[in-house]
Amino acid sequence: MNIHTHHQKVAKVQQEFATLKKLKEVSLKPKSTTHFFRQRTKKHTLDLTHLNQVIHIDPQQRIAHVEGCTKFFDIAKATLQHNLLPEVTPELRNITIGGTIAGLGVEASSFRYGMVHDTVIEYEVLTGNGDIVTCSPIQNSELFYALPNSLGTIGYVLSCKIRLMPAKNFVKVNIHTFETPQTYFAALEKICDEQEHDFVEGYLDRPDRFLIVTGDFTDLKDRQEPTWHWQHEAFWHFLSTHRQKNFTIPVSDYLWRWDHDCFWIFKGSAGLGSFINNSFVRQIFGHWILRSDFWIYLNGKTRRIRESQWYRKYMGIATREDILQDFVLNLDQARDFFEWYNPAMNVFPVWICPVRNDFSAHFPMHTIPGKYILDIGIYSGKKRTSTNPKDYYNHMLDTHIFKLGGFKGLYSTTLVTEKEFWQEYDHAGYLAVKNTYDREAVFPDVFEKAVGKKTS
Ligand SMILES: Cc1cc2nc3c(=O)[nH]c(=O)nc-3n(C[C@H](O)[C@H](O)[C@H](O)COP(=O)(O)OP(=O)(O)OC[C@H]3O[C@@H](n4cnc5c(N)ncnc54)[C@H](O)[C@@H]3O)c2cc1C
Repeated sequence: MNIHTHHQKVAKVQQEFATLKKLKEVSLKPKSTTHFFRQRTKKHTLDLTHLNQVIHIDPQQRIAHVEGCTKFFDIAKATLQHNLLPEVTPELRNITIGGTIAGLGVEASSFRYGMVHDTVIEYEVLTGNGDIVTCSPIQNSELFYALPNSLGTIGYVLSCKIRLMPAKNFVKVNIHTFETPQTYFAALEKICDEQEHDFVEGYLDRPDRFLIVTGDFTDLKDRQEPTWHWQHEAFWHFLSTHRQKNFTIPVSDYLWRWDHDCFWIFKGSAGLGSFINNSFVRQIFGHWILRSDFWIYLNGKTRRIRESQWYRKYMGIATREDILQDFVLNLDQARDFFEWYNPAMNVFPVWICPVRNDFSAHFPMHTIPGKYILDIGIYSGKKRTSTNPKDYYNHMLDTHIFKLGGFKGLYSTTLVTEKEFWQEYDHAGYLAVKNTYDREAVFPDVFEKAVGKKTS
């Protein structure tokens, strides 16, 4: 896309914002497939969804300039034409670059490159003051570091420049199995340290079965059969059956391996889970329904029905508490966490993504020591007893994560008090930037947005 077209769009957005700003309480218009599942109130919304194009790719410098609401699916498609990929490409196709800055983004290449925001070299931001500000580690650096995990409460990303890595047409996947948290986390640290693989992620399907799944770019598709294909089987199901320890798949199948089933979100709902996992259904309807944007859109449209008593009773999930959590612990904390988690919670599968953590000291909303940190994702639910209070397990998890010193990707359900929240993040650091770039508090405070139920 022509950079002038981008500048024209930005000028128009700035004008619209100037009008909205006078009304106060401005909020970003949510896209139909948002991953931010909070109760929303009608606000003065700014629509940035048209800022969704790749502006320029520089294959020599390995840098892409993209608009703030561009989906990773579109970024990856454009960069693959140059045999390049973003250093970190989150697994759900509809996640946007701006959304991952505001809410944190990781992927199996994060053990090498960090989180999505660690791969950004420059942002163009619309601040709460209404200015368009360029920031980087050497220009307006306080803004550059405060944006990640701030949930769009300081400014909106209009465009950014991200680093790219070389890519090949196929990825060879290898699965390694361990039985205890001790042997597992030692092996995970070693694999990350060795830096021999292009991708490293973890998957736990039982308390005594811990998998490390590595991926390596390759040009040659080996002929080994059978292999995994998303139209036959969900990726989580294939990993759980342990039929094959290595296989090679096209790079795009690897990138979106978790996308088709939104990891395993529908596994727990009796009827839907078996429908989607039926091989016949997958082959006939797969192209239309096996994609996270379809599920998340449907999820939004049917939320009211799904939350109703009769639906939950009919689907056999009336006593199920949904657990949709992404949190971050370092390796030592993770060992302690699983000693507690396995007997106390016992909810599987769990996704584990190791993340290189050289830079976190700079970020007020992302502070945790450790050479590597682990993003731990739980996307399911647990049966609760009639005596359990609302959000019993989510509360238990939050208490334990914060007690260990971990922190959260703030799209997740978060149930702590304001005091507990700010014990884990740098309140003074956040406020200093917020008060500079959003002087009149046009945007909400990040605690209010993450934990309170007042804004979208
Ligand atoms: C089921 C599920 C699976 C997930 N899996 C992964 C995964 O595999 N890898 C991963 O990295 N993450 C994952 N996530 C987390 C996801 O990356 C974050 O939720 C991210 O914030 C989603 O971004 P989005 O583009 O969908 O934006 P939204 O969900 O629409 O918005 C998220 C927040 O970002 C703000 N925002 C959006 N765009 C901008 C912008 N341009 N500027 C400033 N603020 C903005 C919004 O106001 C909102 O507060 C998952 C989330 C869910 C629910």
